[in-house]
Amino acid sequence: AVVTRFAPSPTGFLHIGGARTALFNWLYAKAKGGRMLLRIEDTDRERSTPAAVDAIIDGLMWLGIEWDGDAISQYERAPRHREVAEELVAAGRAYRCYCSQAELETMRETARAAGRPPRYDGTWRDRDPSEAPAGVKPTIRIKAPQDGETVIDDQVQGRVVFPNKDLDDFIILRSDGNPTYMHAVVVDDHDMGVTHIVRGDDHLTNAARQKIIYDAMGWRLPVMAHIPLIHGSDGAKLSKRHGALGVDAYRAMGYLPSALRNYLVRLGWSHGDAEILSTDEMVSLFDLASIGRSPSRFDFAKLENLNGHYMRSTGDAELLAALEALLPYLPGGPAIAARIDETVRAQLLAAMPGLKERAKTLLELLDGAQFLLSDRPIAIDEKAQALLDATGRKIATDLADQLENIPEWSAASTEAVVRAYAETGGLKLGKVAQPLRAALTGRTTSPGIFDVLAVLGRDETVARLRDAA
Ligand code: GLU
Repeated sequence: AVVTRFAPSPTGFLHIGGARTALFNWLYAKAKGGRMLLRIEDTDRERSTPAAVDAIIDGLMWLGIEWDGDAISQYERAPRHREVAEELVAAGRAYRCYCSQAELETMRETARAAGRPPRYDGTWRDRDPSEAPAGVKPTIRIKAPQDGETVIDDQVQGRVVFPNKDLDDFIILRSDGNPTYMHAVVVDDHDMGVTHIVRGDDHLTNAARQKIIYDAMGWRLPVMAHIPLIHGSDGAKLSKRHGALGVDAYRAMGYLPSALRNYLVRLGWSHGDAEILSTDEMVSLFDLASIGRSPSRFDFAKLENLNGHYMRSTGDAELLAALEALLPYLPGGPAIAARIDETVRAQLLAAMPGLKERAKTLLELLDGAQFLLSDRPIAIDEKAQALLDATGRKIATDLADQLENIPEWSAASTEAVVRAYAETGGLKLGKVAQPLRAALTGRTTSPGIFDVLAVLGRDETVARLRDAA
């Protein structure tokens, strides 16, 4: 059975590239009826923080990417990493290196001077450990093949050849007994039964070094798929300005997880021209063969359009729940949340069809819903204020008088009153509706004005009209 893994280093938030890697691994596992595991690569104790682990887990959960079993801590597996390093030494596939820092520095200098890349020269490869200087704590180095080539048959990159003369006897265990990244990844992937490694192509050269460890242990190399990194819209390396942000930032910008998932899967993978894919479709269609070889470009406008699509196709109650779930993450959000009682919730729900038509993100939705979240007298923006001139204020007073006593309150009944009022005055409906909208919402745009009246109810409508007048 297929086993994939997502192996983030908890040194910051779950960034957008990491989220895509996680998504691909999850989809591939699901597509094959397999499992995706989560391994936290926390061996770097200085840079790893519990807060970053929480942020990664929170981001994955928000995106709806579920891993199987408990998250595995790489750091806790250090004894096992040492054990395998010792096994390699015992088998003659690795050796202790007693070089001092000064010696290693000289080695690098010599290589540089000769115009060669800095490589370990194999000083201790065949030397007898009895010659070891006293007091030096050794590292353990793998015996890398010295001639020929190491080949990675990558599912995305194709056949990638690394001349072995470029790969030196690299360290697998540091002098303090801690594994290097290269070694820990191999031991963990093997022990976790990982069959497929899907990750960024910045790890491609690591793959060659990792294969040397697999070969030395006689372990089978997992299938590799190194996916091109995400670039900015201008083709340059992804920076913050381009969208290299944490998943939490996308949440705070009001994107829906369903939309972000759909957007991310299309960053580097495609199924014909299909733009909109449900999670079920993604799962049934995803394959490694359709991952592109060239870097994809992050495009905010596309993400926003896609999000608008998902907003419109999400049910009203679900959208309201998403909005409420977002509030704790927004500045001023908790205060807004505190206003949402059962009455306001019912109003928001009733207004949702009109609100979601006009919003590409949850933030825009929230902005459009301000008129339901404000105390009287409501704030009136400049353009709306301009509509409430003497004529506008007269209209507000007249309508308050007429609407106050109508027998039944609905979008239809209030519309009839407003239309009759416009006709009597020889006014176009818009001339009446605009100051009405300004008085009730404080804006010049809003959902359909009679829906606004229906949602606000009689008392609030009349009171706001009188405020404006
Ligand atoms: N921890 C590595 C990273 O965050 C990933 C290692 C891997 O996938 O092999 O880039």
